[in-house]
Amino acid sequence: LEKDYSVFPLLYQAVQANPKKEALYDLNERITYEQLLERVNELAAIFIEMGVVKGDRIGVCLPNWNETVIIFFAAAKLGATVVPFNPNYREYEIAYIVANAAPKLLFVCEKVEENVGLAALVADQRQLISVRFKSPFAIPFEQLKRTNKSAIDVSIVPSHERYCILYTSGTTGLPKGVMITHSSVVQSGLALARSLKCTKDDVFIVPAPLFHIFGMACNLMAAVSCQAKVILQEKFKPDHTLALIEQEKVTIHQAVPTMFILELNHPDFSTFDLSSLRAGMVGAAPCPKETVQEIRKRMGFHLCISYGMTEVGAATITPYEDEDESSLDTVGKPMEGVEITIVNEDREPLPVGDIGEIAIRGFGNMIGYYKLPEQTNEVLGDNGWFYTGDLGSLDEEGYLRFIGRKKELIIRGGYNIYPQEIEAILSEHEKVQESAVIGLPDEVLGELVCAGIKLKQGAHSSEQELLAYLSKRIAHYKVPSKIVFVEELPVTASGKVQKSQLREQIIETIKS
Ligand code: ATP
Ligand code: MG
Repeated sequence: LEKDYSVFPLLYQAVQANPKKEALYDLNERITYEQLLERVNELAAIFIEMGVVKGDRIGVCLPNWNETVIIFFAAAKLGATVVPFNPNYREYEIAYIVANAAPKLLFVCEKVEENVGLAALVADQRQLISVRFKSPFAIPFEQLKRTNKSAIDVSIVPSHERYCILYTSGTTGLPKGVMITHSSVVQSGLALARSLKCTKDDVFIVPAPLFHIFGMACNLMAAVSCQAKVILQEKFKPDHTLALIEQEKVTIHQAVPTMFILELNHPDFSTFDLSSLRAGMVGAAPCPKETVQEIRKRMGFHLCISYGMTEVGAATITPYEDEDESSLDTVGKPMEGVEITIVNEDREPLPVGDIGEIAIRGFGNMIGYYKLPEQTNEVLGDNGWFYTGDLGSLDEEGYLRFIGRKKELIIRGGYNIYPQEIEAILSEHEKVQESAVIGLPDEVLGELVCAGIKLKQGAHSSEQELLAYLSKRIAHYKVPSKIVFVEELPVTASGKVQKSQLREQIIETIKS
C-alpha cells in the first residue's frame, strides 16, 4: 500500500485482503473487517439521508468504542469532517469545541449528556442534532432511522482534502482545532506500521484516546493499514491493560510515558503474562532513557520512542534496527517522508549540534488551525515548514534530541535552564514517580526553578533529600530553589503535565 490513499479506501483494501479477520474488540463486541465495512456503509447511507454533505463537521464525543471507529470511517466515505473530542470534557469545554467546530451532527454518550446539560447546548445551535448513545448499548445507532440499507456509491474523496479536526492537548493554552487531510492520517498510520514492522498477525491495544492523533493515526490507522486487530480500551487502568494484553495476546503496545509507568508500578505487575508483546512506541511526552530501558526489560518487547504532535503526526522514531541503546537519549530520526531542521529566532537553519526551534515538513503537516488564520500564519512558513515551538538539536547522524518547549524554558539570572534535563534526573531517583519543573517569577533573578514531585506509592522523602541528590548531579544554578510534593500532577487527557496549571497550584500553596 504505497500509493496516496484516503481514509475510506484504507479500510476497503483491508476488507478486500482479509474480510473475515477480527478488526475490533471494545470489550463489548467483536467485529470482523467485513462487518466493520458493512456497518460503515450503513451509517454512511444514514448520513446521506440526514443531509450530511462533504465538508460538514460531525462531532464525536465518545470513548474508544467500536461505534467511534465506525463513525470515523463513515464520515471519511462521504468527505465529511470528523471532529472527535474528549468525552470527559465538562460543559464549558464542550461548549467551546461545539461553538468552534459548529458540527451538523454530534454524537454523545449518556454520560456526557447527563454531565453537561446538552439540551441547552443543542438549543443554541439550530443545526445541531445530538445522537445519544447508551453505554453499554446493544444496538448502536438505534435512534437513527434507516430506510435504505444498500451501500451508496460515493466517489472517492481526494486524499488532499480535509479529513478531521483534532484538538491539541491544551498543554500550553486553549486547545486549537488542527485541520488534517486524509493523506496525512493515512500516511502517518502507514509510516508507523512500517517502522514497527507490523503485519496482519499483530494485535494492537489502544488505551490512548481515539480523539487524539496518537490514538487515531498511530494506532487505529496503523492497525487498519496492515489488517491487524485492534483492542479498544474505554478507559486506561493499568491492571486492565495488563490483563487484556495477556487475554488477547496483544503484540503492539503504544502509550504515553505515564501509562507505562503506572503499569510497571502496579503491585500485581509480575502476575501478568506479557510474553505476546513484540513492539511498541512511547510518545506525546518526554520519556527518560532509563524508563524506556526498564519497559524493554520488564515487559519484554521492543519499545521505540517517537516525537510528534497533532499538527504533524508522528515525525520521528528511534529506528527499530538500532542495537545500540545510545539513541534512546534522542527521539530518533525523521520518519521516511519527513524533513526536520533546527532554526534560530529568525528561522534560519542552525548548524549540527546547536539548540534551536524544531521545524518539520512532511506528509503529516496540517492544513492549518480551524478558524484561526493568524495563529496558522505564525506557525506555517512559506515553503511548507511547520514551526513547532519545541526546542531541540540534530546530531551528525540525523538523530533529534528533544530539549523542551520554548514556552517552558526557564531563564534564571540570564542562564537558560531546560526543565526536561532536571526532570530526567529526578525520574532516576528511586522514590520519585513523576516530576515537573517550572519557573516561578522572581524579582531579582527573573525566574526561579521549582520542582513539583509526585512520589511513588508509599515512599517518603523531603525537600532536603532531593535537593542534596540534585546538587550532586547538576550545576548549582539549575538546582531548584523550591521542591513541592503533590498528590497528583495536573495532566491532559494525552498524558502531559499542564505546567501552567501546576504553576498556579504551587503559587497558591506557597501563599497559604
Ligand atoms: P497545545 O498545543 O494545545 O499546547 P500539546 O502541544 O501538548 O498541546 P499535542 O499535539 O498533543 O498537544 O502534543 C505535542 C507536543 O508534545 C509536542 O510539541 C512536544 O512538546 C510534546 N511531545 C511529543 N512527543 C514527545 C516526545 N517523544 N518527547 C517529548 N515531548 C514530546
Ligand atoms: Mg502544541
